[in-house]
Amino acid sequence: MHIVILSRNPKLYSTSRLVEAIEDSGHIATVLDHLKCDIVSEEDNPCIYYKGVKVKDVDAVIPRIGASVTFYGSAVVRQFEMMKVFTAVESQALVRSRDKLRSLQIMARAGVGMPKTVFTNYSTEVKKIIESVGGPPLIVKLLEGTQGVGVVLAPTFQAAESIIQAFHSMKARVIVQEYIEEAKGEDIRAFVIDGKVVGAMKRKGEEGEFRSNLHRGGSGNLIKLSKEERRTALVAAKAMGISVAGVDLLQSSRGPLALEVNSSPGLQGIEAATGKDIAGKIISFVERKTKQNKSKGNQI
Ligand code: ADP
Ligand code: GLU
Repeated sequence: MHIVILSRNPKLYSTSRLVEAIEDSGHIATVLDHLKCDIVSEEDNPCIYYKGVKVKDVDAVIPRIGASVTFYGSAVVRQFEMMKVFTAVESQALVRSRDKLRSLQIMARAGVGMPKTVFTNYSTEVKKIIESVGGPPLIVKLLEGTQGVGVVLAPTFQAAESIIQAFHSMKARVIVQEYIEEAKGEDIRAFVIDGKVVGAMKRKGEEGEFRSNLHRGGSGNLIKLSKEERRTALVAAKAMGISVAGVDLLQSSRGPLALEVNSSPGLQGIEAATGKDIAGKIISFVERKTKQNKSKGNQI
C-alpha cells in the first residue's frame, strides 16, 4: 500500500512515528505538506499536484492538519475523498472538530456529559451570562483556540465581566463555561481508534496552572479509565465522526465531562505514558479500512 501523511513537518514526532509504522508494516509512506498541494477540479477528473507533479497511486491518507490551516488542509483532504482515497479522518469531521461550539452542540445531543456552557452573539447582558453558568469562578474560551491558548480562568465576578467584555470588544468569539474545580488542573486524554480506547493518560498542569495541556508544560501519566470514562470517550468520538481521536475529559463530582475531541491527536505524550505502539495501531486501522473500501469498489 502507498499511504500519504499530510503534515507540514516530517520531523515532528507524530509524523515520523507514523512513517516508521507504515514502513514496518511493509508499506510505502510519503509525507506531503498540505499547503504545497494544488487542488485541480475538473469534471470526472479530480486530482492533486504536489510541487507541480501529479499525485498518483495513493491508497490512503492520514491527515495531520494543524488548527491554523484547517481551511486549506481540509480542502486537500476533501480532494483525496473526491479521488476515492480512504482518509483516516474525513474532511467534514476535521472541520467540525475545530469549532468548540459546534463540537459541544453535537456532543450534547449525543448525551455526553460536559461543563455547562454559554455562547452569545456579543450579548451586553454579561451579568446574565455569568449567572447562567453558576457564577464565578468560570472559564472563558476563545472559540477557535487550541493547545490551551485563549482559555482563561476568571476567579471573580468582576474579572469574569472584564474578560468577557474585553474579548467582545475585540470581536473575538468566546464561550463561557462552568469551572470544574474538582478536576484540580488535571484532565484525561483518551486515545480512540475505530471505536476502542487504545490508551489513556492523565495530564497534569504545571504547579499553579489549571490548564493541563502538554503544550503548556503539563505532564502525562498512564491511567486506567473507569467504565463511565471509557463510555464517554467512545460516545464523544462517535458523535463527532472521528475514527482516530484524542478525547479530552475532566473528572467531576457528577462523572466524566467531555471538553473536546481532537482530530489530529499528538502521539508523543500518549506513547510515552502508555508505552504502547499507538502509531502501529493507527496503521492497522488504516490497512483494514482501505481493504474494506477497495472490496466495495470505491478505489480508483
Ligand atoms: P484547548 O482546545 O485549547 O486545549 P481546552 O478546552 O481543552 O482548550 O482547555 C485547556 C485545558 O484547560 C484543559 O485541558 C483543562 O485542563 C482546562 N480546562 C478547560 N476547561 C475547563 C473547565 N471548564 N473546568 C476546568 N478546567 C478546564
Ligand atoms: N495537537 C495536540 C493534540 O491534539 C494538542 C493537544 C494538547 O493540547 O496537548 O494532541
